[in-house]
Amino acid sequence: MKVPFLDLELQYKQHQSSIDAALLSTLYTFSFIGGDAVNRFETAFADKLQVPHCIATGNGTDSLFIILNALGVGPGDEVIVPAFSCFPSAEAVARCGAKPVFADVDEDHYLLDPDKVERCITGNTKAILIVHLFGGAAAIQELKEIADRHQLHLVEDCAQAHLTRAGSSFAGTLGIAGAFSFYPTKNLGAYGDAGCIVTHDAALAERMRRLGNHGALHKNDHVLAGTNSRMDALQASVLSAKLPFLEEWNRKRRQHATRYQEQLSDLTEVRLPSVREGTDHTFHIYAVRARRRDLLKDWLQTRGIQTVVHYPYTLHNVEAFRYLNYSEGSFPVAHRLPHELLSLPVFPELNSAQIDYVCEAIREFYCQ
Ligand SMILES: *Cc1c(COP(=O)(O)O)cnc(C)c1O
Repeated sequence: MKVPFLDLELQYKQHQSSIDAALLSTLYTFSFIGGDAVNRFETAFADKLQVPHCIATGNGTDSLFIILNALGVGPGDEVIVPAFSCFPSAEAVARCGAKPVFADVDEDHYLLDPDKVERCITGNTKAILIVHLFGGAAAIQELKEIADRHQLHLVEDCAQAHLTRAGSSFAGTLGIAGAFSFYPTKNLGAYGDAGCIVTHDAALAERMRRLGNHGALHKNDHVLAGTNSRMDALQASVLSAKLPFLEEWNRKRRQHATRYQEQLSDLTEVRLPSVREGTDHTFHIYAVRARRRDLLKDWLQTRGIQTVVHYPYTLHNVEAFRYLNYSEGSFPVAHRLPHELLSLPVFPELNSAQIDYVCEAIREFYCQ
């Protein structure tokens, strides 16, 4: 049996007629940047998240950059970022000219630990950037309280958390603004680069819309120097065609997680992801902490099972952030994750037999 980590072709084939129709109808408008297709997607995504403003962008990294830039984050400022996340979360801070200040994550969810955040706050701190990593909701209420107490902006990186719920709200709608990515492999993926920003704040929304469109809302209306980060219309039409299936795909991912849980929870050698109380998880990634991780990965590979390591680094160890001069032992929890985490296949189109086969192979590895 073969178990790929992801199968985008299979997803396409299941929805081929609606995706093809959407792509072709946009193609024949010959309006490739912005326009109706993009407006329609912005409205549909905002409605799903129950938030008044959605601004389509070129990608998730730009979404983060535009939010921080619109909030006035710049040289001399500090932004608190989890020490364990994917590189772009911290890259966006550095690109604003501000300093990323890393805080450790917690053992159970690999998410920003509120207890560690407070001690990172200085007179220069401008914002806390939380990442709903792997599709799990960060401790948003605690973090919001800390941000409010210190008058800091709370920015959400939701690149892996499309429709992740925290209480009665969706991730991305609880802070000042939420950044989404529609990179092809995300739970909602385009057929190229794409992203968006959501917010409740109308004035901020207008500023962010300008920043991604040369400072303009209309042609030749350049009130500030921004950048070019717009969604192209073909991507918007693919996303609109796929959006109606997002909840169903997330539900399937949760079902797969439950099936893994049922079959692996008694193994002491693997620690399964846990879901924070009062939230749900959208399992963009199903990452377990595994003993003898590298050997397990090889073992699964020889059995036709593809797994991935998210991520083989902590942010303070990445070459680009060496200048921050963190010492090796700065983040005791984050420090161990690159050596222990292994992401198992969890894409919606996976079938039960494949999951059972993965579980069987993991059990064999530890019982040999
Ligand atoms: C994918 C991702 C990004 C970057 O999104 P792009 O669209 O690739 O620029 C940022 N943060 C996280 C957590 C991501 O997973």
